[in-house]
Amino acid sequence: MNARVLIVDDDTALLEALPEALRLRLNGVEIDTSETALDALERVREVDYDAVVSDIKLPGMDGLALLTEIKQVRPGTPTLLITGHGEHDLAVQALRGGAYDFVQKPIDRDYFVRSLERAIQVRRLDRQVDEQRVELERHAKVLQHVDRGVFLLDDAGVIRYWNPAAKAITGLDAERVVGRRADEVLPGWEAIGPEVPVATEPGPGSIAPKTLPLEIQGHELWLSISGVEFEEGVVYAFRNLTEERALDELKNDFVSTVSHELRTPLAAIYGCAQTLRREDIELAGEDEQQLLEVITQESERLTRIVGDILLANQIEAGRLRFMKQEVDLRSIAQEAIDEIRTALMARADIVFDLVAPESIVVHGDADKLRQVLLNLLDNAVKYSPAGGRIEVYLEARLNGLRMEVRDEGIGIPHGELKRIFGKFYRVDPQLIRGVGGTGLGLYICRELVRRMDGRLSVTSAEGHGSTFVVDLPLQQIRPPEPTAVSQPA
Ligand code: ADP
Repeated sequence: MNARVLIVDDDTALLEALPEALRLRLNGVEIDTSETALDALERVREVDYDAVVSDIKLPGMDGLALLTEIKQVRPGTPTLLITGHGEHDLAVQALRGGAYDFVQKPIDRDYFVRSLERAIQVRRLDRQVDEQRVELERHAKVLQHVDRGVFLLDDAGVIRYWNPAAKAITGLDAERVVGRRADEVLPGWEAIGPEVPVATEPGPGSIAPKTLPLEIQGHELWLSISGVEFEEGVVYAFRNLTEERALDELKNDFVSTVSHELRTPLAAIYGCAQTLRREDIELAGEDEQQLLEVITQESERLTRIVGDILLANQIEAGRLRFMKQEVDLRSIAQEAIDEIRTALMARADIVFDLVAPESIVVHGDADKLRQVLLNLLDNAVKYSPAGGRIEVYLEARLNGLRMEVRDEGIGIPHGELKRIFGKFYRVDPQLIRGVGGTGLGLYICRELVRRMDGRLSVTSAEGHGSTFVVDLPLQQIRPPEPTAVSQPA
């Protein structure tokens, strides 16, 4: 037995005899001896003994007082007291004081050895429990800090552990779920629980997680989840895939809208080209001109769509460079209006107004500013009714510059206002209202404005129109022109 024991007695004869007897019976036990309580206490402070044996009667500090001290210094060390024959009261006191056992003189060696052996074993088990507790605490701490949601279900389906990440992902507090059945607190668990892959052993790659939906407080969460069995239940770990999944859905919508967007101009171009090639019909000069005009317009539309996709890609890859040059914003706005007018001849009914100071000069990137205005104008036209009026309003303000594109179109539902700037996001992807688009226009605008340290915002009233506002900071501009003169475009 690998253990270390301290024997305290002022009876030197006993101090010699006892260790000998113990060494014979308890193989491998290491024994220290002390003649006084004070010396014993010093040793106990230094060494974490597996057990201490002490005579109850000692000079100076007696065995009971020593016991009290040991309890303070090493509460886990079992202490056996040796009492004189018939000293029952002392023995009782010793037990009350927390002694592990008492041995009466004359010492029954078998009893003594057995008791000491038990004490050593108890101490060893205590130590193991302590180590396991520390280990468990360490694991629990790790689980507190991992970014995956972790929860533990016992065999009865009751949640026994719920880590902070699980709370952060689901919004459900540990107090609300721990101690309750998973199918009570996680709506839909009854159906998805059996679908979750559960491994019998932990280990990397042992089982691939599955992406499953869980409806929590009216929100659909997509979780990538798997479990590992253990003796009393299953530990589940999950990640939130809701956003990735939403983006996937948007991408799917994007692919179908873009293919639609590309197919329409291509069909028009193809149709016109076929007509021009026909030899069996003689086209009048102006008809031919009109067909060529359609081809040009539709090609431009294709170029714009492809341009948007490439630009969004460049933004994503951080490959955009911004120039700092002196730019007259008024002429940029005028150019943008003219470009849109030519590009959208089919919407010749739209009236454009430019309200701006005579000159409004910024230090910025002319191409990017034009791009922002073109996208906002393109939308304003797309979502305007026949004969609608669109106003581009420019204003030099005290601490910055403001550009607004105002329309009288269909407006944007309140609940959509935050989302329309998202990549690929379209309010009407099914084209119920028949207006196409890639869902990239506003994303591009927002990203370009952000990179110019500005801010893009929107106010809108459904059925009445929308106003998109670009605020650029002061460093982009020169001191503002004092007056704003309204001039028709
Ligand atoms: P899209 O190519 O679909 O126009 P955008 O990113 O430019 O993509 O716009 C996202 C969504 O915002 C559009 O699908 C549309 O529903 C809405 N939207 C943008 N501008 C306007 C506007 N001026 N009036 C009404 N709705 C608009």
